Amino acid sequence: PNPRYLVIGAGLAGLSAAQTLRQAGFSVDVVDKSRGVGGRMSTRRGDGWTCDHGAQYFTARDPGFRAELARWQQAGVAALWSPRIVVIDAHGVREAGERTERFVGVPGMTAPARLLAEHLRVQTGMTITGLRRDADGWRAVCAEQGELEARFDGVVLAVPAPQAAPLLAPVSSRLATAASRARMEGCWSVMLRFDQALDRPFDAAFVNDGPLRWVARNSGKPGREGQETWLLHASAAWSEAHLEAKAERVAQALIDAFVALGGKPPQAWSAHRWRYAITESAVDGGCLWCPEQGLGLCGDWLNGGRVEGAWLSGRALGREMVGSFEALAR
Ligand code: FAD
Repeated sequence: PNPRYLVIGAGLAGLSAAQTLRQAGFSVDVVDKSRGVGGRMSTRRGDGWTCDHGAQYFTARDPGFRAELARWQQAGVAALWSPRIVVIDAHGVREAGERTERFVGVPGMTAPARLLAEHLRVQTGMTITGLRRDADGWRAVCAEQGELEARFDGVVLAVPAPQAAPLLAPVSSRLATAASRARMEGCWSVMLRFDQALDRPFDAAFVNDGPLRWVARNSGKPGREGQETWLLHASAAWSEAHLEAKAERVAQALIDAFVALGGKPPQAWSAHRWRYAITESAVDGGCLWCPEQGLGLCGDWLNGGRVEGAWLSGRALGREMVGSFEALAR
């Protein structure tokens, strides 16, 4: 019979690995601890408003990822976003003056992940807390349901490095070491809601001064509906220094900084702390695969960070796994 794989994590990396395995004809189960798919490519939905509070946009340079993006655009789940973009530092405001093509999910950042999940068996609300391998294959324990009934021929761990490390420690010291070496920084995110459109001479700004790093008019992205929303991200250094601070204090500090840039205090706000947001870490090949054990790792932290890196990492791992299986079958 065809092998059965478990993919832990339904972010872009896990979904892309699962898609590659599925297309090769393998049986794949995807689980994620969150309520929905997409991981850090995420959209908060409230009463009459939505706001992307993780990844803000993505770039597409690799030809394989551009082809996938074309498919997303055709399906209406991604679009080019061309904001008026500025750089703000201690000297003032200037045009960003670059030609980066930026893309967003439509109507929110989660949309491409939902498209990928359509043809996959995905279960959300399942937090994997333990993995072990016996003579019959891999077993997984989940916080909500205990040990899963199914046995798997292989496991893909597609979660942030600090969350992968404790799951790997009992089963592979080599992979656990790789995960504990990767550095990931936190990010505080504050979503602002306004009754009226905010008149600003820019749609998005890179901020190189004070606690903020990024400001964007979320409701100005393509396909967004509802209330005027703006999104604030704190810098990595500020976020790391305030990771344990109360949300109210964080929101106040970031809103004050936004007002100092000429913004207005919002009618309402929501805050989200990303403990593991951003990474630049990478390994050769963009993923790790141990064919003897049937254990693989993918994710942005293996491929330089970012949405594109995550998708490519998942595809690279899926291809290696298919290759191993075909080599064995020969
Ligand atoms: P994730 O998206 O983190 O997916 C991992 C999944 O695993 C999650 O869904 C999680 O719920 C699940 N999980 C974790 N542990 C378990 C467990 N034990 N059991 C079950 N499920 C589990 N990238 C860009 O390209 N451009 C940007 O502008 C950009 N800005 C960003 C801003 C912020 C604030 C953040 C947070 C990220 C940003 N990124 C940006 C990075 C981008 O979001 C990531 O690189 C990419 O989404 C990572 O995908 P992934 O699949 O590797 O991981």
